[in-house]
Amino acid sequence: MNLSYKPYTLFFKRPFKIAHGVRESTAIVLTEIGFEGVVGYGEACLPPYLSETQESVASFLNKASKVLAIHHYPFDMQQVLDEIDNIDLGNTAAKAAIDIALHDLIGKLQNKPCWKSFDCNKNDTPYTTYTLGIDEPEIIRQKVIEGGVFKVLKVKLNGESDKQIIDTIRSVTDKPIAVDVNQGWKDKFVALDMIEWLKDKNVLFVEQPLPKANLDDALWLYERSPLPLIADESVQRYSDIDRIKNCFHGINIKLMKCTGLHEAHKMIRKARELNLKVLIGCMSETYCAVSAAAQLSPLVDYADLDGPLLIKNDIFKGITFTDGKITLSELPGIGVVKKED
Ligand code: MG
Repeated sequence: MNLSYKPYTLFFKRPFKIAHGVRESTAIVLTEIGFEGVVGYGEACLPPYLSETQESVASFLNKASKVLAIHHYPFDMQQVLDEIDNIDLGNTAAKAAIDIALHDLIGKLQNKPCWKSFDCNKNDTPYTTYTLGIDEPEIIRQKVIEGGVFKVLKVKLNGESDKQIIDTIRSVTDKPIAVDVNQGWKDKFVALDMIEWLKDKNVLFVEQPLPKANLDDALWLYERSPLPLIADESVQRYSDIDRIKNCFHGINIKLMKCTGLHEAHKMIRKARELNLKVLIGCMSETYCAVSAAAQLSPLVDYADLDGPLLIKNDIFKGITFTDGKITLSELPGIGVVKKED
């Protein structure tokens, strides 16, 4: 996927400034927050099926800039982020773009990678899944071969040719598979039948099998499923966890859903207290937002952070994958540099 960037810059009252560029296709807004000559990078990723747009993010950033401008230092980050969260409901990707840039900025000012600030051991990173879309068998076989070094596959199912897709993958590899249904099974009985069929196919877990609001059926399925069930669309923010904690075995945390690293870290700690599994995921993000999410990855069970592999003209370099294992660097902040630098 090639994306076109339309960068533009906005300047705000010192000491903070926010610059943002816009990427067409899957829309992206890139933020920069500067302090005393040091710049932190952030990103909002805006898939077309969600409600935020480049315009809504720009409008939110205008309001956020007023909050930033009354703070003299970035170090009271929690206070700043609380004030930004209170500007308006929703706008979670816009909020994440500020959260990520602030974490990056503070990490750079302290010359410390974020994973150290989160008390992580960088050897504990998980393997990322390598995503296969819904496709013709020949293309699926081809993609499995292309993802040769990755140890775990992720496959999207939608209730149409699910068994054929799994059989196609199993004709080429016996690697573990993470299944993401994206709410695609409309009926709990169909869902249970499919999960029973999947349980002997080396499947790690099933993500969001049923429509997000249908928690009665989610609970019914949870009580019967032989495979772990992970909530994605059913859980966005910290405050959602209590509502769904008895209906799933784990949660998928994405920075764009939960407003960024600060809240994602809180969600991980809460999930641990509740014995829930944690998957950290991403959208079609560049190495900026994905490297940010990866800073928390030593604390989780599973990672789905292969988003940047689909982008041919990413302007950032960040985390790397060593045979599919997330590899964090000693670079400060979220550990990214712009390719031109
Ligand atoms: Mg999902």
